[in-house]
Amino acid sequence: MRALAASVLAVCGLITSACGGAVSGGPAAGQAAEQAARPQADGTGAPSAPAPAGRAPAAKPLSGKLVVVDPGHNGGNFRAPKAINRKVNVLTQWKACDTTGTATAGGYSEAAFTWDVSTRLVKILRSRGAQVKLTRQNNTGVGPCITERAAIGNRSKADAAISVHADGSATRNRGFHVIMPKKINGPVDPVVGASSRLGVAVRDAFRKGTGLPYSTYIGSKALDYRNDLGGLNLSTVPKIFVETGNMKNPAEAAKFQDPRFRQKIALALANGLQHYLEP
Ligand code: ZN
Repeated sequence: MRALAASVLAVCGLITSACGGAVSGGPAAGQAAEQAARPQADGTGAPSAPAPAGRAPAAKPLSGKLVVVDPGHNGGNFRAPKAINRKVNVLTQWKACDTTGTATAGGYSEAAFTWDVSTRLVKILRSRGAQVKLTRQNNTGVGPCITERAAIGNRSKADAAISVHADGSATRNRGFHVIMPKKINGPVDPVVGASSRLGVAVRDAFRKGTGLPYSTYIGSKALDYRNDLGGLNLSTVPKIFVETGNMKNPAEAAKFQDPRFRQKIALALANGLQHYLEP
C-alpha cells in the first residue's frame, strides 16, 4: 500500500495531467505526458522524462473501450413462441420478451443475418483494441428477452451498445435507419444525448461505408427516435438500434445475402462506433 501510494505521488508530482490536473500545451502534450507516466506508474522504473515522439508503442484506437453488440432476435425463437411471447415491462408499455424477426422472401432470416453481421463486427472491434460483449453466443438459442439485452449493457457499463437489426417492410421501401432513445422519465434519460451522438456517428459511417440510402419510409435522414423499445428504454449506457435495410426489398435482400456486403456493413458499423468512442 505504502509503495503504491509513493509511486502514485511521484507520478503526480512530476506530471500533473496523469492525476487529473490541468493539461497545458494542447492534446499532443497531454498524450506525451500520459505515455511518459504509464511505465513509471506500472513500477517498471522507466525514466520520467517524456519519450521522444513516435517511440512509444501506438495504442490501438479502441483500447480501454467496452462495446456491447446485440444481434437482434435469435435463431431458436421460431420454435419457442411461449417463451418469447411472455410479456415484459419496458416502462412505457408491456411487450413480448423477444420476437422472431423478419426474413427475406427467400427465407434468409433476420436472426441469421444479425448474428453474422454482429460476429464480423466483434472481430473488427477487437482488432482495434476494444473489449466486446455479445448479448447471445450463437444463433440456435432462444432470446434473451429485450430486458436482459439492455441489462447486459448496463451491467458491463459499456461505453456504447448497438443492437443490430434489419427491417421487414413493404417491398418498395428501401434504405437504412438508426433508432435512438427518447426521454421517458426513466433510466435512459441521462444517456439520451450521448445515444443521439452515437446514432449520428453510425448513420454517417453506415451511409459512407455501404452506399445504402437513408430510409425512404422511416425517420428523417435515417434518424428515428422512439420510446417503445425495451432495449433502449431500459439502457443506462449510450445505445442505439440500427435497422440496416429492408429485407423484403429484393435489391437489399440480395445485398444482405452476400457475405462481402455483410462485411461492408460490419466495417461501417465499427467505423461509426469508433468515431463516437474516440476522444
Ligand atoms: Zn429486428
